[in-house]
Amino acid sequence: MNIKAQITNLVPYKPGKPSDEVKKEFGLSEIVKLASNENPFGCSPKVDEWFKENGVNHAIYPDGYATNLRDSLAKKYSLSPEQFILGNGSDEIIQIISRAMLEKGKNTVMPVPSFPQYKHNAIIEGAEAVEVPLINGAHDLQKMAEAINENTSIVWVCSPNNPTGKYINKLELTSFFDLVPDHVLIVLDEAYHEYAVAEDYYDAVELLKSYPNLLVTRTFSKAYGLAGFRVGYGMASPSIIQAIEPVREPFNTNVLGQTAAQIALGDEEFLENCVKQNRLGLEQYYDFCKEAGLSYFPSQGNFILIDFERDGDLLFQELMKNGYIVRSGKALGYPTALRITIGSKEQNEKIINVLKGIL
Ligand code: PMP
Repeated sequence: MNIKAQITNLVPYKPGKPSDEVKKEFGLSEIVKLASNENPFGCSPKVDEWFKENGVNHAIYPDGYATNLRDSLAKKYSLSPEQFILGNGSDEIIQIISRAMLEKGKNTVMPVPSFPQYKHNAIIEGAEAVEVPLINGAHDLQKMAEAINENTSIVWVCSPNNPTGKYINKLELTSFFDLVPDHVLIVLDEAYHEYAVAEDYYDAVELLKSYPNLLVTRTFSKAYGLAGFRVGYGMASPSIIQAIEPVREPFNTNVLGQTAAQIALGDEEFLENCVKQNRLGLEQYYDFCKEAGLSYFPSQGNFILIDFERDGDLLFQELMKNGYIVRSGKALGYPTALRITIGSKEQNEKIINVLKGIL
C-alpha cells in the first residue's frame, strides 16, 4: 500500500505525555501538567457562564464559515471577514497551508528548533524541509532569506518562537520580509502573541497591508485558555485566503469552539490578568535560574527553556515521578534543557522547590 507516512518513516507527533497516563504509570492521584503551554488559569469565566445558561445544539452542523466568530475577529483587527481562515487549532491552519502549497519538487524554509509541525507537514506533502538553525535561540533571518530559491513555496517564522520564547522585532521582521520574493508565502506563527510584552514587540497584523504574501496565524489555545476547544486562525490578503480555503474541511471548527472563542474575545480583562500573572511567573523562574546559576532564554511566551546541563530526559522522568509533566528539551533540540510552561504562582513555587531538591 502507498501510505505516505510509512514511505517517509514519519511517526505520529506526540505533544507531551497525557496526565492520565502518568497517573497510572506512577500511581499518582495529582498531576500538574506544564508541558503544552496551556493557560493555568483556564479560560474566561464568561465562557463557562454562557454554556451553563445557554447550552448548545449538538444536533446541527456548525456554521462552516464561522460567520459570527469571523465577524468578531474582523472587528477586533479592523480587517475584512474575507481575510480570515478558521481552523481546528492553528495546527490545522499549518496543515491547510502545507497541503495547499507544498508538493514534491518544492521546498519550504523554516527555523530549527521551532514548532515541529512545519517540517512534519512538509514531509507528508513530499516537499523538502530546509532547516535553518537558530542563533542563540533567535531566527537567523539572513540565512533564512539566503535559503529561499525558485522552488521555495513557504517560509515559516515563529515569534515568539517555541521553544525558546525569543521574538522578532519590527525592523527585523520588515527587513526580512523585504528579502522574501513574491512567489513565497511568509507564514508568521504568532501562537503566543498575546503573551508578548517586550517594548519593541510588534503587532504584525498591520504589516498585512504592506506584504501581500504574508499570512499571520494565531490561536485561542494559549492566552485565551481554550486549547481543548481547538480554534485557531490565519489572517492574510483575501486572495491568499481564497486560494487556500478549498483545502479546509467544510465543518472544521465546531459549535462549542466557535461559541467559546467568540465569548472569550469579549473578555479583555481576563486576558490582561493572565498576561500579568505570566510575567510574574516568568520572574519566579528567572530568580530561580539566577540563584542556581542556570542559563535560560528570557521568554515572551508562557514557557521557559532552561538549560540544566544534564540529560533532559532523565530530569523529565524525575519530575514526572513527583507529579509534574514538563517537556524534555531532548526532542526540542536542546538535549540538556527542559521547557516548562509557566503555571500559577503556587504551581511555579512547588515545581521550583522540587527542582531545587533534584539539582
Ligand atoms: N504554533 C506554535 C508555535 C505552537 O507552539 C502551537 C502549540 N503548541 C501551535 C502553533 C498549535 O496550537 P493550536 O493548534 O492549539 O492552535
